[in-house]
Amino acid sequence: MLEIRDLECAYGPVVALKSVSLDVAEGQLIALIGANGAGKSTTLRAISGLVKPRGGSIRFRGEDITRADPAKVLALGIAHCPEGRRVFPYMSVAENLAMGSYLRRDGVHVREDLDRVYSHFPRLAERRGQAAGTLSGGEQQMLAIGRALMSRPKLVLFDEPSLGLAPTIVEQTLKIIRTICDDGATVLLVEQNAFAALELCDAAYLIETGRVVKHGKGSELIDDPHVRAAYLGG
Ligand code: ATP
Repeated sequence: MLEIRDLECAYGPVVALKSVSLDVAEGQLIALIGANGAGKSTTLRAISGLVKPRGGSIRFRGEDITRADPAKVLALGIAHCPEGRRVFPYMSVAENLAMGSYLRRDGVHVREDLDRVYSHFPRLAERRGQAAGTLSGGEQQMLAIGRALMSRPKLVLFDEPSLGLAPTIVEQTLKIIRTICDDGATVLLVEQNAFAALELCDAAYLIETGRVVKHGKGSELIDDPHVRAAYLGG
């Protein structure tokens, strides 16, 4: 579904990605793990068109989307759930979710998807009329996830969905991401909590200073001595 080859990205003089190649097959949950600043978020931003790569290529379902416009990438079926929530603070919960379905023309299914989001996150249903900026951090995270789902994406890019959440909510959020994948979406997940990500995913890529240095099944990486020492506390 997604094929990235030799991706290179820079922010002015700062080289963030030197060579990232990865594959995501339809229906899979793929995790990207690595230290702070390794280039995980930049990889997601390059896919969704927010950062224009300097080299390499990105193909989605056979179509070249390297340097494509973010609106085009969304219209092709890729939703990006960015780090740090980024909900529209003065709009209600329901309005934020409606923004997620803005490009869709299939109203009947939009209703179904809204019901599904509210069933994943009953707290959002209770607070549908409340301004998003007044929700707790965890609730805003749920809203950002729900809004991404409202575009009925084929591929969802999640950037650190568990950041800043209480441990019980982290577990619940990651379980919902697994359910989203089991319901038919394909997921690329950036997650600081390497152990949780490796347990959850079908396969994972380890990125270090802008390069993919290892990839394999989650269970293989959990047993890998380098991964254990550097990311799982030995
Ligand atoms: P984290 O887990 O800390 O978010 P990450 O693996 O997602 O890290 P990126 O955010 O992709 O890492 O950053 C990769 C590199 O690019 C880092 O060295 C970072 O400082 C740099 N970088 C990221 N965004 C910018 C920017 N807007 N301007 C300049 N440099 C940037």
